[in-house]
Amino acid sequence: MAEKKITEEAKKRLDNLFESYSIIADDTYVFICDMKFDYSRWSKLLVQSFELPSEYMYAAGDIWEEHIHPDDRQAYHEGMEAIFSGKQAGHDMQYRAKRPDGEYDICTCRGTVLKDENGIPEYFCGSIRNHNERSQIDTLTGLRNQYGFFSDLQGYIRNKTPIRIGMAGIGKLTEINEVYGYDAGNKILQLFGRFLMDNVSNRGGTYRMDGSRFAIISTVQNEAEFAESYEDIRARFRKGVRVDGHDITLELNAGMLSLDEFNVDDQTVYSCLNFAYQDSKINKHGDLVAFRTELTNESRKQIEMLHAIRASITKDFNGFYLLYQPVVDAATQRVIGAEALLRWKNDEYGVVPPDMFIPFIETDPLFPELGEWILSTALKDAKKLLNYVPDLVINVNLSYAQLEKSDFADTVWHTIEKECFDPKQLCLEITERCRLLDMELLRNVIVTLRAGGVRFASDDFGTGFSSIGLIKNLPFDTIKIDRSFVQHIEEDEKEKRLLNNFTEIAGIFGADVCVEGIETAGMRDIIRDYGIHSFQGYFYSKPLPIEELLDKIKCGTDCFAK
Ligand code: C2E
Ligand code: MG
Ligand code: MG
Repeated sequence: MAEKKITEEAKKRLDNLFESYSIIADDTYVFICDMKFDYSRWSKLLVQSFELPSEYMYAAGDIWEEHIHPDDRQAYHEGMEAIFSGKQAGHDMQYRAKRPDGEYDICTCRGTVLKDENGIPEYFCGSIRNHNERSQIDTLTGLRNQYGFFSDLQGYIRNKTPIRIGMAGIGKLTEINEVYGYDAGNKILQLFGRFLMDNVSNRGGTYRMDGSRFAIISTVQNEAEFAESYEDIRARFRKGVRVDGHDITLELNAGMLSLDEFNVDDQTVYSCLNFAYQDSKINKHGDLVAFRTELTNESRKQIEMLHAIRASITKDFNGFYLLYQPVVDAATQRVIGAEALLRWKNDEYGVVPPDMFIPFIETDPLFPELGEWILSTALKDAKKLLNYVPDLVINVNLSYAQLEKSDFADTVWHTIEKECFDPKQLCLEITERCRLLDMELLRNVIVTLRAGGVRFASDDFGTGFSSIGLIKNLPFDTIKIDRSFVQHIEEDEKEKRLLNNFTEIAGIFGADVCVEGIETAGMRDIIRDYGIHSFQGYFYSKPLPIEELLDKIKCGTDCFAK
């Protein structure tokens, strides 16, 4: 096709046409070609995704043809020739187009020819939909969705643009759906999304995330403005919205995070934002929580550290290791078990205890992989201990996010089988945070695994709001009483009475009791009288590397008795 340099005026017209097409194109790529000059403008996203030379191209059809699968190329070529020779006034075809990584995406291309007043073809314009690319639009609210959010966030990180990100959600949407119907729930989501868009995101973007949660990315607001906007919105929705003739008051939750350090990935940022949101929802009655660590106030450092920890998961778990704290029989003080406790270490941050990172990364999609590594490492190490303590039980802690995965029970079985481990010698510890999960689902997982012999313990019993509810609904073999309930037992009568109550409750449900945090002989002597089954604590041993624990056990399982 002949090449003529496009005039300034023709280019301006092309741009105008392109802008108006782009507005209505929504989720597809757009192209427009000035046929007289064979000069085209293509969507930036398409240009980036397929690494085309530029948004503006002469003979774009030929350039694109290079990307088309050899088997589809002839049909494409003939189609284009028919358009440019005037034989056809449009086309509608599907072909495979090659991405820079060598994979092919299926694309549907629809185009039409616009003629000038003399009937001469002037523009060829149309859209290309890439079927392998997920839609970035939420159909209910019309806002950009989670994919759009991540794509924009990646852009800001790449360009090092400082931003503030907020996540706001409507509390109790499930109940609203149940009481007023799904339709009302949907209308509320639309209203809320619309409100956010009108009031906040004229200085950024608004996104519908999952369920009742929305996100905002702003390049101009500062933290104080952000907090102010949130309080306004909160007050507005507390007054109630009118939907289907009902006045429905809404409670909101929100978290936020400022990003001015770019040595992070989008998923780490999302995990931190999620953490702030959960904190608002669970602990702060919906007050806006800004992500930062309470200990150092250095959110930037914290985010970087979490980024490094997350990266370790993808680098063969480099930096993660397990320590083991022995569990002793309360009557004989012989070692009968050990609890695996996770640590992470690197040169920059030193040894990081699990409380500093697990709560932040447990919602990360990579976390279950780490969970599998913990389980298989613990079983491998436990086998070394079994040579000396044949009936030892190894305790492994779980996060609620692991249990949530539909293949969790299968994964555990698979690991047990791979390691040829007796399931009766594995005890999985779960904490009260599991109440965030669907109880039926959780019960099914526990019942399935217990049927095969795996034991379950309720960890940190008494520290949450619904510990009793949890053990009433779920079958546990052991209840582990948190050390905060026995710390002062030597002088505090109330702690003695509480311990008595706890052991009675455990008795009702037929569970053993393990007391954590035994630090002195005095504590041991008092607590022993309460019909406790086992002890764990610094008095016997701090968590140890497996080799050290082995050495100690080799000199006799009672060498921890003092
Ligand atoms: P946890 O499961 O209740 O573990 C007991 C914690 O108490 C351990 O802290 C242990 O070092 C500490 N501890 C034991 N005896 C004493 C004592 O006598 N005095 C005092 N002051 N502390 C004692 P650690 O290792 O820092 O772990 C903290 C929490 O992190 C664990 O509490 C557990 O909830 C979580 N965690 C640890 N490893 C894992 C893991 O592999 N997966 C998951 N999901 N969570 C883990
Ligand atoms: Mg534990
Ligand atoms: Mg505990």
